[in-house]
Amino acid sequence: MQSLTILGATGSIGVSTLDVVARHPDRYRVFALTGQTRVDLLATQCAQFHPEVAVVGSAEAAAQLQALIKRDGLGTEVLFGEQALCEVASSASCDTVMAAIVGAAGLRPSLAAAHAGKKLLLANKEALVISGQLFMDAVASSGAVLLPIDSEHNAIFQCLPIGYQRVPPQHGIRKILLTASGGPFLDRDLASFDSITPEQAVAHPNWSMGRKISVDSATMMNKGLEVIEAHWLFGASAAQIEVVIHPQSVIHSMVAYADGSVLAQLGNPDMRTPIAHALAYPERIDSGVDAIDLARIGQLDFRKPDFLRFPCLQLAFDVLQSGGCAPAVLNAANEIAVQAFLDGRIGFSRIAQLIAETLHRVPSAAVDTLDSLLAQDQVARAQALALLH
Ligand code: NDP
Ligand code: MG
Repeated sequence: MQSLTILGATGSIGVSTLDVVARHPDRYRVFALTGQTRVDLLATQCAQFHPEVAVVGSAEAAAQLQALIKRDGLGTEVLFGEQALCEVASSASCDTVMAAIVGAAGLRPSLAAAHAGKKLLLANKEALVISGQLFMDAVASSGAVLLPIDSEHNAIFQCLPIGYQRVPPQHGIRKILLTASGGPFLDRDLASFDSITPEQAVAHPNWSMGRKISVDSATMMNKGLEVIEAHWLFGASAAQIEVVIHPQSVIHSMVAYADGSVLAQLGNPDMRTPIAHALAYPERIDSGVDAIDLARIGQLDFRKPDFLRFPCLQLAFDVLQSGGCAPAVLNAANEIAVQAFLDGRIGFSRIAQLIAETLHRVPSAAVDTLDSLLAQDQVARAQALALLH
């Protein structure tokens, strides 16, 4: 029986995780669930899964949740705040942590799970983009088992040899081929990008996801973050990672070997597949996802990414080359820009410009501690906010 903490249980990944968990009550029990603002949903999840602890974002939300827990006669303890998130992520009462908080807010809790040597299911890609080396060092020194949830990285993991040691050429690997759907604006007239609305940007053609990652997919910053994520997870250099546009999202990514073989993982675009893979690893369990019907899909298309249409993708490759805290600055500026776009404060094309200007203004210092990284994150946020005015 695996005992789980689900960070970000009320989000898209959290809900999909609980869907898989509910199919296997003999394998998984829930130790802790966390949400930030969606108290009603969290209370419903508590009534279904009976966690020992639930964590929310504020004292006010905690009081609301507490009242619902009491109404339902549940024994769940209610806590709030970042420290509580770190505690449930590292508690001796859980074996496995699903890290599915969105953005930099997930960094400390995800890192806490890494330091505590958990089986760590990582959806929160921003945490790895920001803290790269520190994160991988924490995993290595604690003996944590890091399993990628991002569908592309989960696919790559499945196509790598068992015992892979994060040095591609040592395993005869030529390249990692990271597939990208291209998002909703792959073929939209570039001249009309300024009239893109938030609702159009969050309407992804293949995947149903949270709002932030949906905008990231529309700008292709999501793929940029994933290039950096792949660098850290698999030890691949920027030159060893190639982005391939594949609009159907059936192949979730590939690994190209020295002998000319290319291994791919295919499936319907449903996050329950990588979630179930990582939960059960190295076994296989039912995820609730239908088998793919290749004859119905008919055709798989591929093309090169257009870096002019999607400047965010180029920016991500650039910061990977720069190193230091540049990826953290990129991430911070992106979080500010995406929120400003969702709030109707800036146009779609301004997202990439704002990030580029922030990168230009915030020096890319070398980083060796979490505190210095977070300080740079704050500087970058302040700079990006200032550029909004
Ligand atoms: P959602 O926006 O749907 O969910 C985010 C979760 O994080 C919610 O539970 C939310 O709580 C919580 N949260 C938000 N802000 C904070 C905060 N400041 N402190 C603590 N918790 C917070 O996002 P997704 O599920 O789509 O994405 C989660 C992560 O997984 C992201 O890093 C994303 O990039 C990654 N990912 C997602 C995929 C997907 O298909 N959705 C695919 C691949 C990766 P509440 O809602 O209660 O406010
Ligand atoms: Mg992905």
